[in-house]
Amino acid sequence: MEFSQGLISAAYIVAALLFIFSLAGLSKQQTAETGNWYGIVGMAIALIATIADPRVDNVWIILVTMVIGAIIGLQLAKKVEMTQMPELVAILHSFVGLAAVLVGFNSYFEMDHSVAATFTDSQQMADNIHLVEVFLGVFIGSVTFTGSIVAFGKLRGIINSAALMLPQRHKLNLVAGIIAIILLVTFVQQGGGDNTLYLMTFIALVFGWHLVASIGGADMPVVVSMLNSYSGWAAAAAGFMLDNDLLIVTGALVGSSGAILSYIMCKAMNRSFISVIAGGFGTNVVIDTETDYGDHIEINAESVADMLNGAKSVIITPGYGMAVAQAQYPVYEMTQALKAKGIDVRFAIHPVAGRLPGHMNVLLAEAKVPYDIVLSMDEINDDFAKTDVVLVIGANDTVNPAAAEDPTSPIAGMPVLEVWHAKNVIVFKRSMSTGYAGVQNPLFFKDNTQMLFGDAKDSVEQIFKAL
Ligand code: NDP
Repeated sequence: MEFSQGLISAAYIVAALLFIFSLAGLSKQQTAETGNWYGIVGMAIALIATIADPRVDNVWIILVTMVIGAIIGLQLAKKVEMTQMPELVAILHSFVGLAAVLVGFNSYFEMDHSVAATFTDSQQMADNIHLVEVFLGVFIGSVTFTGSIVAFGKLRGIINSAALMLPQRHKLNLVAGIIAIILLVTFVQQGGGDNTLYLMTFIALVFGWHLVASIGGADMPVVVSMLNSYSGWAAAAAGFMLDNDLLIVTGALVGSSGAILSYIMCKAMNRSFISVIAGGFGTNVVIDTETDYGDHIEINAESVADMLNGAKSVIITPGYGMAVAQAQYPVYEMTQALKAKGIDVRFAIHPVAGRLPGHMNVLLAEAKVPYDIVLSMDEINDDFAKTDVVLVIGANDTVNPAAAEDPTSPIAGMPVLEVWHAKNVIVFKRSMSTGYAGVQNPLFFKDNTQMLFGDAKDSVEQIFKAL
């Protein structure tokens, strides 16, 4: 089946609109599912229109490849745990980067460079534009490729999540950027050049690796959304090379929404957007292993249940540990039991709690917790002082007072949920170990804090029983 060019353009416009509706839908929990469907239908239309393009030959090769890819993708999606989502997203970004590099090389080697001498002015201009597209596509794709692989390794724990601090790292990045610009000018002026392209690819691969390697643990959320943005621009560059309008539009949508998300995450973590793009921010800090914070106090589930029975207001602050324990379902059962006793229960969500943006919102929505009792950090942070009991379920960095009180802490300046202002704080975790950023949490040693050790799901179930 082949479509006419007009029909393909119309299908592309419909798909592009559906992608925009999809992004709009995904921006609110209530409409997220519909938003997902818009995206699925948009992508199906886009794929059919692309395959039916008369310029596409070897349709069978594409179909067979798609089936193999779909089988692998489905298996992975079924198997992946919610806590492994960021890793999966990171490795998928690396594929987009690699695809842009391969499209760039293919597009360059398809060009007939021997006829350049006979070009008219307008042909010369078109050739130059194409060379710039190839160069930028391969550059952005290479940075995205290695950057995403390092992000995958750090999130999976196979690469040390601490920041790599090469001496003069900012100067190294700057030199790489300047050499890349010189190579771009040479590449265009000389009408191409295999070695120039190879050299730039090598520099971009190392640059991408260094950019992410030099960012420390707690700042990974921004890196993930930044790579999301880079992968969009890499796809847009591939769209220019392939002369595919929909790929350009889709890439630009992903690129700009990723950039907006990075900006929001930077604001949430009080980091400078520019220093994130430059790499290696938030690293001039000392990890303190010496300070003696004093003793912590332990509590058991029955005593927590008694404390909750006597409370009027409770705030639950979930974190990565709730996701690991899959405690969201018993947490909601406990919430319902408390509400039935007339106790006001609300949830406080930190923007980078868990391991991906919106992680906690997704888990709570999965357990059917009503949206109106789930509040963002800005909405609820002033209410802790008026709260009887705060249950910190598997959260650590996002409730660490050191962010507000210790300027030498790796998470200094990051706004956190100020749970320590409440009358009582109960921390659910398995040990005294640190959170993702690898820093100790003075909250655990405060007089109004008590530690409930054990798997979060077991602990919540025990409290529910005792209630
Ligand atoms: P943290 O990752 O700081 O801490 C999680 C805590 O959960 C740990 O201290 C751990 O302690 C505890 N835990 C783990 N498993 C269990 C379990 N089964 N039962 C009970 N407790 C458990 O959590 P936060 O959500 O507060 O912070 C998120 C961190 O991740 C931030 O540093 C953020 O920057 C980073 N990050 C966020 C991303 C995002 O987009 N949201 C992406 C990448 C990183 P113990 O082992 O003692 O049980």
